[in-house]
Amino acid sequence: MELTFADIRAAHDVVRRHLPPTPLWGYPLLDRATGAAVLVKHENTQPIGAFKVRGGLTLLASMTAAERARGTVTWSTGNHAQSVAYASHRYDAPCTVVMPAGTDPARAAAVEAWGARAVLTGDSLDEAGRRAERLAAQSGARLVSPGDTPELLAGVGTLYLEILQARPDLDAIVVPVGSGTGAAAACLAAAALAPGCAVIGVQSAASPAAHDSWRAGELLARPNRTAVAGLATGRGFALPQRLMRAGLADFLLVTDEEIGAARRLLATAAHTLAEGAGAAATAAVLSRPELFAGRSVAVVCTGGNAVPAELADLAVPDASVATPASPASPAQMI
Ligand SMILES: *Cc1c(COP(=O)(O)O)cnc(C)c1O
Repeated sequence: MELTFADIRAAHDVVRRHLPPTPLWGYPLLDRATGAAVLVKHENTQPIGAFKVRGGLTLLASMTAAERARGTVTWSTGNHAQSVAYASHRYDAPCTVVMPAGTDPARAAAVEAWGARAVLTGDSLDEAGRRAERLAAQSGARLVSPGDTPELLAGVGTLYLEILQARPDLDAIVVPVGSGTGAAAACLAAAALAPGCAVIGVQSAASPAAHDSWRAGELLARPNRTAVAGLATGRGFALPQRLMRAGLADFLLVTDEEIGAARRLLATAAHTLAEGAGAAATAAVLSRPELFAGRSVAVVCTGGNAVPAELADLAVPDASVATPASPASPAQMI
């Protein structure tokens, strides 16, 4: 199935029944620090604290009553889990999320608080995915791939529709990339609404699978060492990579330390609590003034679900280099 901008428009009719548009605000101190005219798209203000809620709602809305009664099974350690759990709650459908055994208990609790079942098992997200496959085959529930499900892309695309309807004159939108669903959808929205606006992806240099796959034009696996949940993927996903290949203007890498500095800047200059992935776009604008100075740029604050180590890291003075937190399990992600 080929996804088009019409799918994003249709998803917007669903999403806006549930959620108001998120704010798109500028801050003089952020402009001063970056040398650009920056607008922050505040997906951290969503009810689950992240943009992925738009995808979950679009997916559940697309299912028939019979499919909803059988429910969904998916796998995740973080915001994707909460998205499907939240949407299943709104649509009164059963939901099971398989999470690696090392997942932060607070993340499992957040899923269960929406009425979903969290199954903690295995060492990695790949193992969780295989367990989810078996559970779905046994129960007849719909198996939902976090990266390759068109409804999720169409749903997250609604945030770019909101940005570009408000500001079709933007020079660029910078999008944090994990699996690439958000950046792929941004490419479709920009092509339809603002062909002059460059969509630029950003990933952590410690987990460059999506970046390297895009540059090489083929799906690659790469070491996955970032501590930044949401950006931590070990391989490229086919559907988003195909769309990014057609529409992404550039793809940048930033370090986890640069992301930490951007989180501190957002906290002080934009009174915004961002998780690492939510600050990656700001980190890219800060680290590449030759690309962004003097331009009008939207940065997507994709999420605000900061873990305790990220909260503590906000107090680290910027002159020093923050010691990267060592996560309990290496492959935190979507
Ligand atoms: C999932 C996620 C991302 C990455 O999005 P993809 O669509 O997987 O590329 C970025 N930021 C946050 C907060 C996320 O939860």
